[in-house]
Formats: sequence, structure tokens, C-alpha cells
Amino acid sequence: MRIRDLFDRYQGMTSFAPLGFELQRAKGIYLYDSDGRPFIDLIAGISVCSLGHGDPDVLTAIRTQAEQYCHVMVYGEMVLSPQAEFARDIIAALPDGLDKVYFTNSGAEAAEGAIKLARRYTGRAGITAQMQAYHGSTAGALSLMSDPYYTNRYRPLVPGVRFIRQNHTADFRFIDQNTAAAVLELVQAERGAKVADPGFIKELAVHCKSVGALLILDEIQTGMGRCGSLYLFEQYGIVPDILLTGKAFGAGMPLAAFIAKADVMDALADNPVLGHITTFGGHPVSCAAAAAGWKKMQQLQLHQRAGQLETVFRRQLSAVANAEIQGKGALLALHLGSDERCRITIRHCLELGLISDWFLFAPNALRIAPPLVMTDEQAVQACQIILEAVSRADRDLQSLQ
Ligand code: PLP
Repeated sequence: MRIRDLFDRYQGMTSFAPLGFELQRAKGIYLYDSDGRPFIDLIAGISVCSLGHGDPDVLTAIRTQAEQYCHVMVYGEMVLSPQAEFARDIIAALPDGLDKVYFTNSGAEAAEGAIKLARRYTGRAGITAQMQAYHGSTAGALSLMSDPYYTNRYRPLVPGVRFIRQNHTADFRFIDQNTAAAVLELVQAERGAKVADPGFIKELAVHCKSVGALLILDEIQTGMGRCGSLYLFEQYGIVPDILLTGKAFGAGMPLAAFIAKADVMDALADNPVLGHITTFGGHPVSCAAAAAGWKKMQQLQLHQRAGQLETVFRRQLSAVANAEIQGKGALLALHLGSDERCRITIRHCLELGLISDWFLFAPNALRIAPPLVMTDEQAVQACQIILEAVSRADRDLQSLQ
């Protein structure tokens, strides 16, 4: 059987219209299809592969650690240098108040752990989330999703969740003395990279403090330099009570974490003990890869590249008619006005040698989240493909009228 036939026959599907790109290998900013043709990767595994594919330092760290030891019991009982040393490095780069790291396998699990931690620490049940936010697909993380299309068929959800709109301070009334935590993203990635106003976030932080609710920032997509600083909260002048990190955090290996103040985090260790456990979270090989990726990211100052790439993409794509760019750094969305225009543009991009995607709650917007090692010249080339793809899409749509 061909690989595509095996895929169709044996793998669980997330939709019946998959992209179907058959990957042979990946290197730098390119994905190579089964014929060896290179495609510019404009999504980086959904904001993961910031160092590009196949970074030699990360690969060496993976090999070295795998040969030393691979899986052992990872949670909290054994002392493992890849975990402890990486935790030290992360905490050294974060402000006071973010003092301890709990490693998980995925972003969703980090969100789950953080909700449990907030409930356990505050003794409160309520959680306030943002409308059209995405924090993961597990049952608890899904309960933070406002869109009934994605949630209705999975009810009952975790109770006690209320929703606020981005940049609407009037909605702070849904964060009160019964609220354990407010969970939000500073750029709502899956809404089409919608950026929160600094005033809204500052007021939110003050409001949370005044009612005793913890502030959980989900920087799973915005963190690790993607929006122009190590974590985006730095640009807002606030420090969250709990920080969620994932995606690029593992440098291409599965790793995420929730990070909190020591006394908050310690609540998970007692009454009940083992408040959150995971067989693979903080896997030594993932931590070794992540530590190497982290070091490389600092050496290359990749967060600065994010800002430079934003300038190139915004300048070049301002030529697209009837479109608007939202987002920050290298997490951008080209809003194209209609779902169909976006869908056809993505198809033409693929024909022209570029892989992009749409957003969960913004199917009218094209995802621009490249590896941060992309050069300005490569970014210009990517934009030329997008410009051509949009004009082909517009011609297709006109011919249908
Ligand atoms: N939070 C945000 C902001 C995300 O974008 C995602 C994934 O896209 C998640 C959480 C969930 O992460 P994971 O897919 O690793 O569970």
C-alpha cells in the first residue's frame, strides 16, 4: 500500500479534508515532499519549530541524552539533571514570582494542571476564560472554549467556567470572589492573532489581584520569542501568577509547562499528594532538546528576529487588496475577508511551494508563523508567493461569478 493509503486506512482523522502533504524530510525553513520538492514552511508545526527543522545542536542533545538514559520515572521522585538544569535556566530568565516549573507533555495538559493548581491554591471553583480562545483539546481545556460548535457534542463540560471578551473591561464582573483564576492569551492566536490592548491587560491584572483570583497567561503560542520578547507579558509590564508555555518550548520535542510562584506550586504536593502526575511530562530527552534549543535561541537572539520578520511581512503584504494583517512579531494573520478566498489562497500557496494554514476561529485568515530563523530574503520570497496565490484566488473567484 502507498503511504497515503495507509494514512487513510489506519489513522484516526481530525477532518475528512486533510492537507495531505506527504513529507519526506525537513531542514531549516523547508519541508520536502515525497518527490523531494522543497516547500517554505510558514507555520512551523503551528508555532513550534522556531529554530527551523533539524537544528544540529538540538539533534546532538537528543542523541546524547537518549544514549545516557531515555525514559525513567519522570515525575518529581527521581532527580534528573536534564529537568533540574533546564528548570534552573528558565527560572533565571523569568521575573520573581515565577519560581517553579512543572513539566507536562502538551499545552493542553499545562492548561489542565494550571486550572487544578488555581483551584487547589485558592479553594475556589470558578474559572474565567476568554471568548474564542483555544487552550487545548482535553476535556478541561475544551471547557475553556466558548464556541458551541466545538463543545456542544462533548457536553457536559467542566462546570464553573465563565467567559469575557478581549478588550472589554466591563466583562471583569465575571471575575469575582468565587473565581480561582482568569485564563487568557495576550494575542488570541486562533482568533486570527488578535492582540490585547495594554490598558485592558493592566486593568485585568489589577482587578484579579483585588478579588483574589489568579491570573493565568497562556503563552503557549506567544512565548519563546515568537512575539518579539522571550514571553509577551514582558511587553505588557505585568507578571502572571501562572505562566503556560509549550510548543516552541520543547525545540521540536513534546514538552510544555506551567510555571508559578513557589508557594502556589507547592499546593500540588500536599493534600492530596501527587496533585498532578504524568508518566512522560518532562521526559529527559525532551528536556535535553529544550535546553539546547533555549541556549541557541538566546545566542541567536531569535526574539529580535520575530520583530524584524513582522516588519518584512507587514510591508510586503500591504500590497494585498481588501486584506488586513493582525498579530505581533512572527505570529501574524492575513485576514482575507472570506473563508473561501483564504481556502483557495492556501491551495495556490501549496501549488507554488509554500505551506500555510487558516486559524480555528478565523478560517478567513492565512497563518504566518514561520521558523524564526527565516531570513529577510526568504520572508520576501514567501510574501511573493502569497501575493501570487491571492491574485490567482481572486481570478478563480471572479471566474465563478
Ligand atoms: N494554548 C494555545 C494558545 C495553543 O495555541 C494551543 C495549541 O494550539 C494549546 C494551548 C494546546 O497545546 P497542545 O496542542 O500542545 O495541547
